[in-house]
Amino acid sequence: MNNLVVGAGLSGAILANLIANIFNEKVLVIDRRSNIAGNVFDYKDKNTNITVHKYGPHIFHTNNKNVWDFLSKYTKWNYYFFKPQAVIEGKSVTIPFNLTTLYEVFSSSMAQQIETKLISKYGYGSSVPILTLKNESDKDLKFIADYIYQNMFENYTCKQWGLKPDEIDPSITSRVPIVISRDNRYFHDKYQGIPINGYSKMIENILKHPNIKLELNTDYKDICSKKYDRIFYSGSIDEFFDYKYGQLPYRSLDFDIQTINKEYYQNTSMVNYPNNYDFTRITEHKYFLDEKYDKTVISVEYPQPFILGKNERYYPIKNSETDDLYSKYKEEAGKIQGLYFIGRLGEYKYYNMDQAVERIFEIFEKIGETNA
Ligand code: FAD
Ligand code: UDP
Repeated sequence: MNNLVVGAGLSGAILANLIANIFNEKVLVIDRRSNIAGNVFDYKDKNTNITVHKYGPHIFHTNNKNVWDFLSKYTKWNYYFFKPQAVIEGKSVTIPFNLTTLYEVFSSSMAQQIETKLISKYGYGSSVPILTLKNESDKDLKFIADYIYQNMFENYTCKQWGLKPDEIDPSITSRVPIVISRDNRYFHDKYQGIPINGYSKMIENILKHPNIKLELNTDYKDICSKKYDRIFYSGSIDEFFDYKYGQLPYRSLDFDIQTINKEYYQNTSMVNYPNNYDFTRITEHKYFLDEKYDKTVISVEYPQPFILGKNERYYPIKNSETDDLYSKYKEEAGKIQGLYFIGRLGEYKYYNMDQAVERIFEIFEKIGETNA
């Protein structure tokens, strides 16, 4: 069988790898960018040699051993726990908001009173979405819910999405729940890390196989796709169909990447600014791989609307209207034999890296069943 994979991001690369290794079939992988790795692309900054995550900070985390073991064949890891901070009322505090944060922002007697109530209501170690906590009627729990909502979520979400937290899909704010413990890590998954030689190198290794041919600077619309038995498309599904039902909306980002003439700019890899400025967060890249240099590289992240032809697609904007629009394209796709839409853009889903990998495993397994 002849296979075409459109997009050399994480999803496309893994699918190509499985076809090459397990089916022992030829795969052509194309990408319209001049580099592999899609949005997990990173590069060494020319002046400082610091590894920069071009499309935003990427921290790998998963509870899925199969996903971890698969990627571990292609990279060693820097075992890194992500511990970002947020500036609230001018003070840098622990996020996600947890019991440590409670004591960072309130007097200890007040924090103690709220802590007792949070533990008795939800249990130590639990995670509570802000929109759930906001429904509390108890005076102290309502107070803390309103405080966190106003100081951490409301303005950040308005900047990020142009909408209030209760106007976006609840699954988005529940990505960063209130944590009823003193575990100060952003993620609590069993496996966490940063590829020791970078994500781009990991993807390069995933794509390294005699059955895989890679062509960069190549857009799907510029190639003759008729000769392929299977096409896996990790670009945006609306674009594939020439936007016949209209455009699927996305949020985009603008990164202002700066070299700063001092050893460290901030005391951790990421600092969120929910309330001040027009940017949402600043990433200092050298922390991810503990890279040493007397200068540092930061990126300041400004959310933007996605405008076709002007910037990149980052986040699908999920709601019932866009779900309906996506369903129309999906139905259209179902009519074409041998065509599969994959990845964040192809499936119009807010996939973390591990979820993207898991989904590719699933899709590959289904193809294997029909092959058998
Ligand atoms: P992409 O990386 O978007 O790859 C799609 C590829 O297809 C691109 O290279 C594109 O150029 C190519 N393409 C598109 N159309 C065409 C065409 N017509 N012809 C040829 N090529 C085409 N996940 C985590 O687990 N941890 C994190 O910390 C994390 N941080 C993130 C931070 C930000 C700011 C964002 C936006 C996402 C983050 N993610 C994170 C999610 C992660 O980026 C995605 O899960 C992952 O990049 C999905 O890979 P993909 O291959 O599906 O899509
Ligand atoms: N969020 C927020 N304040 C924060 C961090 C996150 O309001 O300090 C909300 C915001 O709506 C954001 C969502 O939680 O879009 C998910 O945050 P996450 O850090 O997972 O975003 P990502 O890293 O995917 O951009």
